[in-house]
Amino acid sequence: MEKVDWTQSVEPPQIVSSSDAVEWESETDLVIVGLGGAGVSAAAEALDRGLSVYALDRFEGGGATKASGGVVYLGGGTKTQKEAGVSDTPENMLAYLKQEVGDIISPDTLQAFCAQSSDNEAWLTQRGVRFEGKLWNKKTSYPNAEYYLYHSDNSLLPTYAKTAEPAARGHRGWVPLKQGRKAMNLGGSIYDPLLKHAETLGLKTSRLADVRSLVIDERGRVLGVKAYVFEQGSEAAIAYRDLRARALKWMTMYPPILPGSGLFFKRGFALSRKAAELLDQRVVKYYRARRGVVISAGGFAYNRSMMKAHAPKFARGYPLGTEGDDGAGIRLGQSAGGAVGNMSRVTAWRFINPPFSFARGLIVNETGERFINEMVYGAALGVEIGERQNGKAWLILDKGLVKSALAEVSGSKALPFQRDLARLNVGIASNKASSLQKLARKTGLPPDALEQSVAHYNEIAQGNAICPFGKPAGDAAHLARGHYYAIDIGLAAKLFPCPVLTLGGLKIEESSGAVLSADNVPVPGLYAAGRSAIGVCSWNYVSGLSIADCVFSGRRAASSLSETKETK
Ligand SMILES: Cc1cc2nc3c(=O)[nH]c(=O)nc-3n(C[C@H](O)[C@H](O)[C@H](O)COP(=O)(O)OP(=O)(O)OC[C@H]3O[C@@H](n4cnc5c(N)ncnc54)[C@H](O)[C@@H]3O)c2cc1C
Repeated sequence: MEKVDWTQSVEPPQIVSSSDAVEWESETDLVIVGLGGAGVSAAAEALDRGLSVYALDRFEGGGATKASGGVVYLGGGTKTQKEAGVSDTPENMLAYLKQEVGDIISPDTLQAFCAQSSDNEAWLTQRGVRFEGKLWNKKTSYPNAEYYLYHSDNSLLPTYAKTAEPAARGHRGWVPLKQGRKAMNLGGSIYDPLLKHAETLGLKTSRLADVRSLVIDERGRVLGVKAYVFEQGSEAAIAYRDLRARALKWMTMYPPILPGSGLFFKRGFALSRKAAELLDQRVVKYYRARRGVVISAGGFAYNRSMMKAHAPKFARGYPLGTEGDDGAGIRLGQSAGGAVGNMSRVTAWRFINPPFSFARGLIVNETGERFINEMVYGAALGVEIGERQNGKAWLILDKGLVKSALAEVSGSKALPFQRDLARLNVGIASNKASSLQKLARKTGLPPDALEQSVAHYNEIAQGNAICPFGKPAGDAAHLARGHYYAIDIGLAAKLFPCPVLTLGGLKIEESSGAVLSADNVPVPGLYAAGRSAIGVCSWNYVSGLSIADCVFSGRRAASSLSETKETK
């Protein structure tokens, strides 16, 4: 497959004597770099507070937020939870999240996040976002298209339920049933209404506007940004937009896991290269931020060299996000003296359930040993495989489990991508054998260790042994003699891609969202939100926590900027 350099260079800050030394294209209270989930939340909050806002986006806006599954992690007794009869309190949500979030943010910030959660639901719905209380109350990585509220985390697992009462907190934005049969490109249900609200209040935007450097005065205060933009309505802009749209169409037309997908990508990359040839027709423009610049330009999963440098264990995963996730936002913050943290931390989505029967089988590492409760939330599994199991793992099933798994994803019981992955992996990608010894040899696992792991697992399933990872007997299947299957679920598995999203970013002052230097001093005039910054999900992601953090951190940056003074 031909390679395209997806990275984008960030230039050193432009140091000026004062704001008068620059010919600004526009002057507003806030300039937002990257108009995705965090950017649009910051814009909406700032405009609500009477500030003026200019948002620049390297592409069309929406980013990974719009491409997402549209799940927002909300709780503590939201209106939607109440409608569905789910009981939850901010204290219960806090007790649960403490188990996931670790000490990546302060206890006060986590407490504020939980306390504000149902207000954030109201804030979203008042701006046109629609949630629904149709509840899916069993373990799943993503619910069937008809359900909108589900346990998008580990809360149903006995080890977590000991500390906090399970409560469904995955709120999926409403989309028509047909559209909901995919688990991507549903984030417009959250992003589009917020954008519409912000535009109604006077949001100014530039699309295809690539922010490359910050403009800073001699005291180190951020005054604005420099961007490369196409002249609006120019032939180059029209051609660039058209070529990129066609490139994306080719690259998303055919599932990348299927043989032959390389041809589709090749065509897409060729169109992308043609589009890139037009980039030198852009002009440089400067945008003044009287109160501050908010960096909300996403993470760095699409930047191979940053992945290899910061999160090498996960560099083999499948980048999750958009081309905008090339780390430019984080590097812009660093260029002004901002410090970064948690850069090695990612979420790796090894979702095996649905089908539920897959999670009733056992998972072993390269030494043939079990290492986890297979029912865990898929990102906990993916991170464990990457962090501690050398990126390698296999799912072991028997004929009975395979049969029930295929039945569980038949028809419209699961989403098409869940059904296709299960069928493909059982039918083509698995090793099959009549005994565990033979299966182990085919798969390259130590035969005796695999046999011992299955024997012990069967004892757990029969209630004769306690699972060291807390899996109850009822969740474990007794693997009978007969045909056994081993499915490669490692990070590099070609037919079972493991999507990887970065979680680390710029260090911020948690009360305001101001970017901090290595000495923990705020960089004047610079704020960060969403995946460009450290946030609530920067240690562990559970479904919906990233977009919930974008709303929380975007609103926080805007409200603290509304209390600052204009800079000269
Ligand atoms: C398929 C998929 C499904 C997902 N599902 C969920 C889910 O259901 N729930 C959940 O919580 N999370 C989900 N995620 C993760 C989540 O969508 C992202 O982590 C989150 O939306 C990031 O928001 P953000 O505002 O930080 O960045 P984005 O929404 O990506 O916005 C960043 C924007 O910045 C722009 N930009 C980048 N660089 C520049 C620059 N130099 N100049 C100007 N603009 C720039 C980009 O073009 C982009 O529009 C999913 C992700 C994917 C890809």
